[in-house]
Amino acid sequence: MATERTLSIIKPDATRRNLTGQINAKFEAAGLRIVAQKRIHLTKAQAGKFYEVHKERPFYDELCDFMSSEPVVVQVLEGEGAIARNREVMGATNPANAADGTIRKDFALSVGENSVHGSDAPETAAVEIAYFFSGLELVG
Ligand code: ADP
Ligand code: MG
Repeated sequence: MATERTLSIIKPDATRRNLTGQINAKFEAAGLRIVAQKRIHLTKAQAGKFYEVHKERPFYDELCDFMSSEPVVVQVLEGEGAIARNREVMGATNPANAADGTIRKDFALSVGENSVHGSDAPETAAVEIAYFFSGLELVG
């Protein structure tokens, strides 16, 4: 499988509880390299643009409020099959369904406040990485 890059976000419920390092340790233990990372505080409009694909979903407004409520850590993870591998490490969207040892099983508070975002396909990964990082900031 080819080396890939994926966009990850450590969400406000996790930054608030000081879990950035523990979450990053799970990525690194799974063979994912953090090749770019920064802590930012999104505006609601910036969160809304990022999650535009979900704008018809009933939880969209709540999701945008949550993602702009406190700082997030946006990061680019690199590795073999990084997109799928990251989704495995994250666990299911709803922590009640997440496998043991996954980030969401260990840390998520609810289906909404679920600690991490990860891109779901190569096309979305490319768009999402470009939303937050310039080429100069990606140091493999
Ligand atoms: P994932 O983050 O696992 O890719 P989705 O893309 O389906 O999941 O949803 C994006 C985000 O929207 C989720 O991570 C979660 O924060 C929020 N979300 C999804 N489903 C719900 C829901 N039923 N109620 C509240 N928030 C939700
Ligand atoms: Mg998704």
